[in-house]
Amino acid sequence: MELEISPLNLPGIDHTQRPVVIAGPCSAETEEQVMTSATQLAAKGYRIFRAGVWKPRTKPGGFEGKGEEALPWMKRVHDELGMLTATEVATPAHIEAALNYGIDILWIGARTVANPFAMQEIADSLRGVDIPVLVKNPVNPDLELWIGGLQRINGAGIKRLAAIHRGFSSYDKRLYRNQPMWSLPIELRRRVPELPIFGDPSHIGGRRELIAPLCQQAMDLGFEGLIIESHCNPDKAWSDAAQQVTPDVLDFILSKLTIRSEMVSTDTLQTLRKQIDECDNELLELLARRMKVCRAIGQYKKENNMQIVQTLRYTEILDKRGAQGALSGMSQEFVRAVFEHIHEESVNQQIEIINKK
Ligand code: PEP
Ligand code: MN
Repeated sequence: MELEISPLNLPGIDHTQRPVVIAGPCSAETEEQVMTSATQLAAKGYRIFRAGVWKPRTKPGGFEGKGEEALPWMKRVHDELGMLTATEVATPAHIEAALNYGIDILWIGARTVANPFAMQEIADSLRGVDIPVLVKNPVNPDLELWIGGLQRINGAGIKRLAAIHRGFSSYDKRLYRNQPMWSLPIELRRRVPELPIFGDPSHIGGRRELIAPLCQQAMDLGFEGLIIESHCNPDKAWSDAAQQVTPDVLDFILSKLTIRSEMVSTDTLQTLRKQIDECDNELLELLARRMKVCRAIGQYKKENNMQIVQTLRYTEILDKRGAQGALSGMSQEFVRAVFEHIHEESVNQQIEIINKK
């Protein structure tokens, strides 16, 4: 099924200028927090205000959003500050309530997009409504599921659609809260070129220091927009405190962005970058496989009372790999250094196994 997309055409927004910015707190907490954040953003020239009214939390007991109580606050932002308002909806009841309060833009969260039943229900309740809908990537890196979600909403007659890349959840969180996989939105762009794409550096990064580089990356890949969490008092935020920034900081970050013309980021460059991403993914998978073997070796050494570092074997590996690397056009020193690091981690993994009771 082909997607039938029309331009977002957000009233008062100049779509020829990148990025189109949607900014606002993770959640609408109090009327004062909403109005203060929005007023500060409006003063900086931001025109589209986001705030979560219903919050999908991983565990019960956290702040799950104010719900309908917060909708009149959003309406004030619209009426008094002239901003467009956006919020997340996950059920037909959310949609009905949001529409009653004149919310201008809806977005569908990553957890909801992963559930086709929920997406179909949402789509059915949007039939006959003309409102822009932004569809986040599902929590798992499944491009077809993402496109399927867009198709369901589109099937209900919503043509003003956009996608949001917010990264993918993974077991092992190191740098990112939600691992970005740029090859997915790039492939989405190839398949549906007219669909605008937004980057969500806040939910990808999970930390405010990562917002600037992630915004730049999204711009370099030709995304049209950014949705960024901005709160008048980020450290006191009731949800996602670590990733929110004040409107001032947001403005500083965005003022440093380099917006390159599309001519620079050509299709060829994007294809090559996609190949790099794939190589890195393969490298990581291979490394993980290697570490698994190391742990098996650790177990064997433990059972047979052998010492972990066997110097002869280590020297042999470094020499051999260095020579192999040179044959493949890399410097011997570089390859040796890489293997020294890999060896260090392998030894650590073995020590962990040996010390395990
Ligand atoms: C959000 O935007 O506040 C949110 C809950 O995002 P996600 O669905 O990406 O987790
Ligand atoms: Mn959030």
